[in-house]
Amino acid sequence: MSGICLDEKYANFTIEKNFEFTKKSTIGCGGVAPVAVYPENAQECVTLLRYLKADGVPYQIVGNLSNVLPKSGAYDKVLISTKRLCDVVFDKEIFVGAGVTSGAFLRFCKENGLSGGEFLVGIPCTIGGALYMNAGVAGRYIGEIVESVTAVCGSELKTLTRAECAYAYKQSVFMQTGDLIIGASLRLKRAPQAEILENIQAYTKRRAHLPKGKSMGCVFKNPKNLIAGELIEGAGLKGLRVGGAQVSNEHANFIINDKGATPEQIKTLIKIIKNAVFAQYNIRLEEEIRYL
Ligand SMILES: Cc1cc2nc3c(=O)[nH]c(=O)nc-3n(C[C@H](O)[C@H](O)[C@H](O)COP(=O)(O)OP(=O)(O)OC[C@H]3O[C@@H](n4cnc5c(N)ncnc54)[C@H](O)[C@@H]3O)c2cc1C
Repeated sequence: MSGICLDEKYANFTIEKNFEFTKKSTIGCGGVAPVAVYPENAQECVTLLRYLKADGVPYQIVGNLSNVLPKSGAYDKVLISTKRLCDVVFDKEIFVGAGVTSGAFLRFCKENGLSGGEFLVGIPCTIGGALYMNAGVAGRYIGEIVESVTAVCGSELKTLTRAECAYAYKQSVFMQTGDLIIGASLRLKRAPQAEILENIQAYTKRRAHLPKGKSMGCVFKNPKNLIAGELIEGAGLKGLRVGGAQVSNEHANFIINDKGATPEQIKTLIKIIKNAVFAQYNIRLEEEIRYL
């Protein structure tokens, strides 16, 4: 076990000991983090980050762990889970907490007749993870419906405009700053429930072909004007296996953990894919997933 130990000033936080990545990540592998902290509101986030920084304790922010590859063994950072930042406040605008899942967000939208975020259906994520990754599908990305994002920047709460978030394909300013996203005001419009439901069903239908099983979703970003999955398939890698990890036979940009794969086996498979695609097309694939 790593030597991470938080002193008594952290006693008021909700803490989980022995956070098992195998159980909590969608890829279903990895070791154990000795401590995960679950701040309940923005002020707790500010205080927690102040404490951790002052104590020189390394930390890692996580949402739903749907786009991450955890490490093996004892994890050497404190995890900050946003799962309890799950308020949705709807007044003139809608503010969605970072820990709200896409499912809970869309249920709220349906009940309140708010349209614009239906493309998030089926993406396993928290809103914070989606805002960090600029998640989306079919040419629609969450960045385009952001009015502003509230985050702990340095040790203070700040509200960033959409322009300040610097959204681009699978990019946001948060990848540079590492700021903790608390939530966002989103640009949604009023619409009849039936219309929202119809949109949700249409986006759900588009996802029917996606592979089932434990994965991180797409492993690689699409290179400009190209599709990473097609390049991987073209390099003859569909179905390729390293230990318990396999390039999906249905969608070559997915790696499936179907037989107790280790993070090392998945990393080896990623390396093989990158080398083979480079050898065949002279194109360097870049990971979309984040390594923890
Ligand atoms: C089956 C499957 C299908 C998928 N389909 C899609 C898809 O269609 N489109 C798509 O875009 N993605 C897809 N993904 C990938 C994934 O769902 C998205 O990237 C999602 O946005 C990750 O959100 P998360 O809450 O799980 O973040 P995590 O995986 O927990 O974290 C991802 C990154 O975001 C950072 N982060 C998370 N929360 C915060 C926060 N509050 N503040 C600061 N940083 C934060 C983490 O530090 C990490 O670097 C899919 C994944 C799976 C497993």
